[in-house]
Amino acid sequence: MYDVIVIGAGPAGMTAALYASRSNLSVLMIERGAPGGQMNNTAEVENYPGFETIMGPELAYKMFEGVTKFGTENAYGIVTDIIDHGTHKEVVCEDKSYEGKTVVLATGCVHRKLGVKGEEEFSGRGVSYCAVCDGAFFRNKKLLVVGGGDSAVEEAIYLTRFASEIVIVHRRDELRAQKIIQDRAFANEKISFLWDSVLEEITGNEMAVTGAKVRNVKTDEVSEVEAGGVFIYVGLDPLSEPFKKAGLTNAAGWVETDNDMRTSMPGVFAVGDLREKTLRQITTAVGEGGIAGQQVYLYLEENNLTEAPTV
Ligand code: FAD
Ligand code: NAP
Repeated sequence: MYDVIVIGAGPAGMTAALYASRSNLSVLMIERGAPGGQMNNTAEVENYPGFETIMGPELAYKMFEGVTKFGTENAYGIVTDIIDHGTHKEVVCEDKSYEGKTVVLATGCVHRKLGVKGEEEFSGRGVSYCAVCDGAFFRNKKLLVVGGGDSAVEEAIYLTRFASEIVIVHRRDELRAQKIIQDRAFANEKISFLWDSVLEEITGNEMAVTGAKVRNVKTDEVSEVEAGGVFIYVGLDPLSEPFKKAGLTNAAGWVETDNDMRTSMPGVFAVGDLREKTLRQITTAVGEGGIAGQQVYLYLEENNLTEAPTV
């Protein structure tokens, strides 16, 4: 039995594990992929204090090194359910279950699909959701980037390192991205915009993407735009399926908590992008992880559950 089981090793989960392990609690962190979460899919991070700029995967590695130093155990697993047994919880993975006195949910989000014809078919053959993973495959190609938020605009700027030209296709005539990111995109000669426009279909041949059919939402006019690749950044959906049965999600699938990261189930906390909130950032994920790590300790104390761990 662990004092705390952290589900997800993004910045939120890793910080919760760091704080809990530094309180001398026994901590298990379960992750289904590489530790680091979305940071592994991010090129340059410029808004994490202490680093003028740092590549996402490098920041992920540094965080992971720091967490393991204080004794957090790691397990590979895809969590599918969480069961409340009162004084302890059962965290169910596909092939194994773990028991913890408390649990921190930190599974984050996943890129939303656009849902247009050709998206599925050309995924991995010109359709991508990760500039840092796939950008280098598109040297000297014209690319379409779909979306108007931080991800679309920032990753479009990153892609100008490789691409000959980038067209950002946005459904409105105004970007949602932070002003500083917008200004950089407007000043970048390789980037142009197709405003008030949505993709109708991603087109290609048996080898790869060759372009897209783009509809102007104001005129309904459809035009064919040539492109060697399409990067899609149209928002995020919570990775909360495993917590639905336990009643921890709201109607839209996000997990609601109070200011101490407590969910509706005593002893279960939620942190990071998975939470219902407005600012999804590494800094906020880390801050919430710290709060949850400390709250876990207080919960165990208040409920007289702090006897020596029986792992
Ligand atoms: P995540 O980082 O998503 O980590 C969640 C982890 O949980 C993942 O590793 C996942 O594999 C794991 N997981 C999910 N489900 C399960 C399961 N069932 N079982 C086991 N493990 C599971 N923020 C910034 O501050 N600065 C930036 O420059 C920046 N750039 C970004 C660029 C892009 C393209 C994107 C998409 C986001 C960017 N963000 C940036 C946002 C930032 O990355 C997130 O806010 C942050 O990573 C959220 O941390 P998290 O730990 O909550 O979730
Ligand atoms: P987001 O902020 O939700 O933006 C999604 C964008 O896609 C919006 O512009 C939206 O248009 C558009 N969109 C949504 N559905 C669409 C559809 N079906 N068809 C066409 N366009 C569609 O998502 P995000 O940019 O991935 O950012 C997610 C979170 O990560 C945010 O909290 C963001 O701040 C954070 N992040 C931060 C950084 C950074 O700090 N540097 C970098 C990346 C991400 P509308 O604008 O019309 O709604």
